[in-house]
Amino acid sequence: MEKVARLLTAVGLQEADPVRVAALKAEAADKGPWIEGEGRRLYRRSLQIREGTLYFIGTDGSAKHLYACGPVVPRNMAGRSLKAGGRSLLEADLSTENAAALHELFPFTAPVSLRDRTTTIGCGDRLGLATPGHLRALAGRRASPVLAQQSVRELTLTHRTFPAVVADASFLVFQEGYEGGYGADGDHLKNLRDIDSALDAGMPMITLDLTEVMSAEPAGWTAARVDEAFASLPAELRGIVSSRYEGKRFELEGTAVEISAAEARRCAVMYGRAVDFAARVDAHLRARRGSAYDLEVSIDETTAPTLPAHHLYIASELERRGVAVTSMAPRFVGEFQKGIDYIGDLAAFEGQFRVHCAIARSRGGYKVSIHSGSDKFSVYPAIGRHTAMRLHLKTAGTSWLEAVRVAARLDPALFRRMLAAAVDGFAEASRLYHVAADPRVVPAPESLQDRELEACLEEPNARQVLHIAYGQLLSDAAIRADLYRLLQAREKEHYAAVAAHIGRHVRLLGIAEVAPA
Ligand code: ZN
Repeated sequence: MEKVARLLTAVGLQEADPVRVAALKAEAADKGPWIEGEGRRLYRRSLQIREGTLYFIGTDGSAKHLYACGPVVPRNMAGRSLKAGGRSLLEADLSTENAAALHELFPFTAPVSLRDRTTTIGCGDRLGLATPGHLRALAGRRASPVLAQQSVRELTLTHRTFPAVVADASFLVFQEGYEGGYGADGDHLKNLRDIDSALDAGMPMITLDLTEVMSAEPAGWTAARVDEAFASLPAELRGIVSSRYEGKRFELEGTAVEISAAEARRCAVMYGRAVDFAARVDAHLRARRGSAYDLEVSIDETTAPTLPAHHLYIASELERRGVAVTSMAPRFVGEFQKGIDYIGDLAAFEGQFRVHCAIARSRGGYKVSIHSGSDKFSVYPAIGRHTAMRLHLKTAGTSWLEAVRVAARLDPALFRRMLAAAVDGFAEASRLYHVAADPRVVPAPESLQDRELEACLEEPNARQVLHIAYGQLLSDAAIRADLYRLLQAREKEHYAAVAAHIGRHVRLLGIAEVAPA
């Protein structure tokens, strides 16, 4: 800590001087993200003053801390302190408790509802290190990031918690001095217990996965069997189905969506319980957060694509029930496999996708959400066009793969260990994820020259094997420690890799640049 104190003096920050702080921040573009000296780094963009106290993020190259320096340091921030010349220097760990204190002092570091933002990008960050790369990819673009986004499955596999995920994003937002507002998404939640734990962590976005409350089987039933099940539904619902949907034709932007009487009853049988549950969850979110929440309704984890008539039924029922849907994720035609481009007929995709977009616009204008949205480069132009940018694109594992790329480039021995472990663990990992990779065609790591390693990330089989291996690789204590050490030591390269990759998504979607002021 003495070294940090000496560095502050050396750069003219012995006092919390706003003019000096502004000058040091402005130099970030030319002189780089940090001020270096005494074996310590101080992040320029993190410099902030509140009530005469200077705050910033610093690091010794391995561990980062939040520092507060001034006559009074905040009581609710826990850490070690050093007193000298009438001021204190507090060195605080980047803990969940200190993140809560940071949110109070600097509200821009806490996640917010992005209900009113037109275009949002989900940037899953499984390591809790990628936020600066995500922010750079979206800088100057008309899109807002959901920086914290994890499913319960991801939390389990990475040994993290919702509060830790939010804290990691919060400190990196502070490090970058980003004040534009960001979202936090409790992803693919299926019950109120998990929803509450995401809300308790301050996450304003809930992706409600309706898979378990929908019935998929009636999709294949005969009309007679559907009618039998329909007869046992509440009379009120049966009346609504018959008056609003049976045999009706809906004109939407020049396309007609027809719902036959039999199909309307099938929808009621398939989705009745799911709509009830979504309404209950919406009421719960409103009770806990007023209107400051984003409810995403997800019906994508099914075996068959969502038919436009079914999407229209669900959206209409949610609208009738007054559910505040911020975004909805149908399942689209074709394959949206993890970490690779779209597989399927582009024209068929586009033909149905535009109807899904028209439905969303006609039923309250919620955002169409694209799940497993990373790396679908061939369909992005169509997605951008038909949504008119009213969309949520959810990416997750692709940023993990950029971290793996950094290992391939900068630590070949670590990458070889990761690739070997990923191939070994494939049988188990592929039980949780939908991928078509064949691990037998992945080259043996020792057969590759160092310069050939990165190509594994472009070859679909190796790419998917590495993509879904994150849980196993991060559960291996040695690999986990070595990867974190590498990414912390080479964070510039890591941020640049993430920014370049997510930036490609942003450009192909056609997200416009913010007009210069
Ligand atoms: Zn999904």
